[in-house]
Amino acid sequence: MTSQGKTAAPEREGYASKEFAPREVFLGEFSNFIETLNLSEEVLSNADQGQKRQFTELVRGQLTDFHTQFSPDEIGLFEKTFNLFSIKYSLPPFDNFPEFCEIMMGEGKQEFVLEAAGVVGVGKSTLTEFVSPEIKAKMESERFHSSENPFLSLAYSDNDYWLRTELGFGLDSIFTGLRGKLYDGRWARDTSVWSDNFIFMRARVEGGQVTDEEYKVYKKTVELLKPLISKPDLLVLMLPTSVERLYQGLQERIEGNPKVRDMERKITLEDLEVMVRVEREAIEPLREEGIKVLPIVVDPPEFYRNPDLKYATLFSIRDQLEILGEYLKQDPKEVADYIVSRIFSPNMGPQVVIAHSKSMFAGKTSVLTYISEMVGDENILAFQPAAALRYGPEYETKLKNRDGVEIPANTIWSNKLSEILEDVKRRIGSDNIDPRKTYLFIDETMLFYESDADEAVSSVEELRQMGFHVVCDFIDYTFQEEPFNFAHKLIREATVRPDWHEVELGTTCKYCDNEAQGTRRYNQYGEIADYDDKTFVAGEEQYEPVCCKNGHISCVNQPEDFVRQPLPSLM
Ligand SMILES: [Zn+2]
Ligand SMILES: [Zn+2]
Repeated sequence: MTSQGKTAAPEREGYASKEFAPREVFLGEFSNFIETLNLSEEVLSNADQGQKRQFTELVRGQLTDFHTQFSPDEIGLFEKTFNLFSIKYSLPPFDNFPEFCEIMMGEGKQEFVLEAAGVVGVGKSTLTEFVSPEIKAKMESERFHSSENPFLSLAYSDNDYWLRTELGFGLDSIFTGLRGKLYDGRWARDTSVWSDNFIFMRARVEGGQVTDEEYKVYKKTVELLKPLISKPDLLVLMLPTSVERLYQGLQERIEGNPKVRDMERKITLEDLEVMVRVEREAIEPLREEGIKVLPIVVDPPEFYRNPDLKYATLFSIRDQLEILGEYLKQDPKEVADYIVSRIFSPNMGPQVVIAHSKSMFAGKTSVLTYISEMVGDENILAFQPAAALRYGPEYETKLKNRDGVEIPANTIWSNKLSEILEDVKRRIGSDNIDPRKTYLFIDETMLFYESDADEAVSSVEELRQMGFHVVCDFIDYTFQEEPFNFAHKLIREATVRPDWHEVELGTTCKYCDNEAQGTRRYNQYGEIADYDDKTFVAGEEQYEPVCCKNGHISCVNQPEDFVRQPLPSLM
């Protein structure tokens, strides 16, 4: 689309120009402006107050001159950019508020911020509303509305206005993020400047609404202001089950609500296709920015009607925000601290820790992560049975330290614990591994199903005798409430052997306040699995911790004469 010339802008007193500038004029001047700020950065970082004042007067003067060629709304974009830039370098008037600038440039006062990101109509507000109480956070909704963006309605009929529209949204969300830094507590937000940056603008380029040149300026602006763009502690990136379902959800919402924003009415299926693709492509660049991204898939029409998340998803959100301890019987961090300082203390020989729980979602993996943070990732040697991999890639042990670096677990393909011994002996020979300095993790130990109880016990004990500190984690019961392989035998050993220690983790039932006694499994139809169910569906999202009482059962059709075996530690 070509420029249609000047369009009337809202009138404001005291300004010479009432009209929006042609596309090329705005692009040219805004590029120059960003370039000027860019070039002055080096000087400003060493400038004294006098020089800073001089520079500010110069730029503010230039902005005043702009009133002859730009409308007040356009000048607003320059001013907002410069205000943010002024905070970055403590330029006047912010030089009078050094503490304020420090907070703005720092991580802020808040305990954490969760941001929901995703394409329009995927359910960001619904998610934020649902999640806020589950993480004890205050909810912050979109503070600015599309109606307050003076360029948006024009942009729908004329691509000339997209750069100005997106700059307006982008700058406003940076301010929203900064405001959040002034308040303590926990926050959940349904907007994210990061998703705007990586999704919306990119989609406009691909849709041919924004030129490469305009995209470049937008990115340079973001780059310039980056230290001020607050990073969420977790970005929940919402993806729809399909573009068609996303479109359908959007239509249903429009029909049911005459107040739905114009912006959403005009979106086509093709627009959505581009946006969803761009959103998927944004995951990696976002992670490269150092942002924790949790992609989740929702079915938009269903999600609006019945907002709910899989237990595994909520667990993962709490885990990544490091508040799991509040929801578990034992705080993983405290457990890890106890293991490292009390059991693996330097004046004791090698020890075995049996970290187990009756159900999934009790924080076992978090304990391992905290231990590795305390003793150093480089001192960890982790193993997992190949059988654990069938639970899907999410279930695969990926211990990540706080910098997001993964500690890979070595997969034992034979599902036999004795193979760990052979593997370790090879490593001692070739990799110079010193058992006395190495912590050996055996994750999902109950899935080494080719080992019998005696082999399991002797393998673990032999590893200890080689000099390793060993941590075995496992769950005690299958979804049928049967003892999980040799799990109970390992616990029994831990109660009698002096160098073995038992640590029991736990959580509450998903449906009541009782302690979870087992794990419910769902089949592929979303029904509670049958006791005899052999069709295995991969993925942690098929499971929930339950108390196994009052209908909160782990499976259906347990035999009439079924008797649950208690844990040996309680006998
Ligand atoms: Zn695990
Ligand atoms: Zn219950």
